[in-house]
This record gives sequence, C-alpha cells and structure tokens, in this order.
Amino acid sequence: MTVTAGAPLFDRLALIGVGLIGSSIARAARAAGAVRSIVATSRTEATRRRVVELGLADRVVETNTAAVEGADLVIVSIPVGQCGAVAREIGPHVAPGAIVSDVGSVKGSVLRDMAPHIPKGVHFVPAHPVAGTEFSGPDAGFAELFVNRWCILTPPADADPAAVERLAAFWRALGANVETMTAEHHDLVLAVTSHLPHLIAYTIVGTADELAAVTKSEVLKFSAGGFRDFTRIAASDPTMWRDIFLANKEAVLEMLGTFNEDLARLTRAIRRGDGELLFEHFARTRAIRRGIVQLGQDAAAPDFGRPHPALPQAPIPRPYATDTD
Ligand code: NAP
Repeated sequence: MTVTAGAPLFDRLALIGVGLIGSSIARAARAAGAVRSIVATSRTEATRRRVVELGLADRVVETNTAAVEGADLVIVSIPVGQCGAVAREIGPHVAPGAIVSDVGSVKGSVLRDMAPHIPKGVHFVPAHPVAGTEFSGPDAGFAELFVNRWCILTPPADADPAAVERLAAFWRALGANVETMTAEHHDLVLAVTSHLPHLIAYTIVGTADELAAVTKSEVLKFSAGGFRDFTRIAASDPTMWRDIFLANKEAVLEMLGTFNEDLARLTRAIRRGDGELLFEHFARTRAIRRGIVQLGQDAAAPDFGRPHPALPQAPIPRPYATDTD
C-alpha cells in the first residue's frame, strides 16, 4: 500500500523536530498532499541544514517560535522530556484556531507538561503514531512509515471534537488507522506493548554484554539463536528511551510487577521440571504471534522475512555423478 494524494487538510504544517518521526511526517504529508506547505525547524544547525539538503520542507527556520507563526497545524516531534519547555516557548506565538499536536510515546506527561502552555482558542490534541524503527534523524524517515500502523489520539476531556476529527483525518491521509483513548489508558497499554519489551531487550543485551564466561565474539557469532532479535530493539535512541521510562514511571512499574511474577512462575517451572506448565505457556504465546500477523501488524513470512543466502555450490558427490563428468 502506498500513500496517495488528496485535497490539503491544512494550509501550513509547522514541524518542530525533524528526526525519524518528524521527517516521516514531512515526507508522507507531502506525498499525500495533506498540507499546502511545510515549515520546519530543529534544535541544531546541522539537522536544519540536512533538512534543507533533503528538501523536506518548503521553509526551514532557526527558531521554534518562527516555525509556528501562521501555521494551522503544529506537530512537535521531539523527545517527551523536552515537550513542556517547547510548549512554553511556542504557546504565545501559535495562531488562534490552530491545532497543536505531538508524537510522543508517553501521553500523560505530555498532557501535563504541554497543556498549561497552550492558549485558549488553540486546540491541543496529543497523538502517538505507533510506528518506528531503531534509527534516528532526518535521513531515517520514509513516507510509508505510518501506513497500516495505528495512531492513537489522546485529546483532553474538553477538546473540540471537530479539531480531533481534523487531526484524525490528517493521520488517515498519511495511511494510519486512528484510535482515540485517554492519556492514562494509552500509557498503560504502551507500557505492555512497547515500554516493557524495550526494557527487557535493553536488559538482555546488557546482560549478554557483561557475561564473563562467554566471550563477546561468541555472543555476536551465535546471535541468530534469538539474541539478535532483541538487539534491534535495544539499538533504539537512548535519549528518547530514557525520557519514556522517566515519563511513564508508574505504568511501567505496574507492568514490571506483573512481569516479575510471571518470570518467577516460569523460573519455578524450569527448576521443578514442570514441562506441562512450560508447554501450556509457550502454546498461548505462539497464538499471540498469529493474532498480530492476522491483524496485518507484521509479515507472515518466517524469521521476519529475512533473506536467506543461497546454498554453497558444492561439488556433486561421486555416487550421483554422470558419465559425462
Ligand atoms: P529523533 O530521530 O532522535 O529526532 C528527534 C528530533 O527532535 C531531532 O530533530 C532533534 O533535533 C529534535 N529536538 C530535540 N529537542 C528539541 C528542541 N528542544 N527543539 C526543537 N527540536 C528538538 O527522534 P524520533 O524517533 O523522531 O522521536 C521523536 C518523538 O517521537 C519522541 O517523543 C518519541 O517518543 C516519539 N516516537 C518515536 C518512535 C520511534 O520509533 N522512534 C515512534 C513513535 C513515537 P536535533 O537533531 O537538531 O538535535
């Protein structure tokens, strides 16, 4: 499925932060014809220059306040720990009637930190596109990132339904499916589906790195046994993930409690040789994988569809050789 062009939903999109997510929004919004023009900015001169080189925006400006002037949609695509300070900075400069949104992976903290700085008459509709890769920066983005992925909107209770629907239409134009929920519920769901898996991956990869009895080269060489699948997640951006764990502390700790209980149950089963419990547990988890594939959230191909190299060209063994050999 590719992004297709339609009528512009917004006149001017202001993008604050043009990393993986911001640059993917720029590419997709352009490809879909969802906005008439894009003004972008980023914290560093190096990224701003790269955005110009890549031609991701109609205009690249030096400050966050300059970016939001005259925009009817502002999307803040920066680490969640920075969102409050940026909202305080841009708040007084956003045009009345505009929509201010974000893409942060935690929503409770974003609502808490940004909402107080959004002036009356400006619509604040936080969002989280549940799509990404382990890469960062403006070169990492691509227009199809959001196609068939979910974008979760977490509008405050008093949000204008028309503004929420307009932002939903924007995300649908970029190929995403849209769902609305409270920030609190979002943080609980994402603690299970994203934050806990990242913490586990960071732990496993860290543990393997510190083992004394197994060499580092052995860990890398034999990683196809399962370890390498965790390394993709554990290669994610350290700033972004530090901020996520600090911002979603309560929900992550709650899920970690449940996880530790389940881990203790499996540990006990292994110690006691309880094969029945292990088998029943693994059969249940296998069905979850099938469910994800059925919902179109991953490819059905084995081993994530990784290409497998061709067989080596071995000489034909003697018993099968022909007379003409
Ligand atoms: P990224 O590739 O590291 O890009 C972050 C961008 O934010 C960079 O352009 C950076 O600018 C800019 N920035 C940081 N602080 C800023 C500030 N104070 N003012 C203006 N720009 C600032 O990160 P990303 O992966 O796009 O993530 C951005 C947000 O999306 C995060 O909140 C994350 O939780 C969320 N998210 C990420 C994923 C994912 O898989 N990566 C998925 C969904 C949502 P410089 O380069 O100039 O420093």
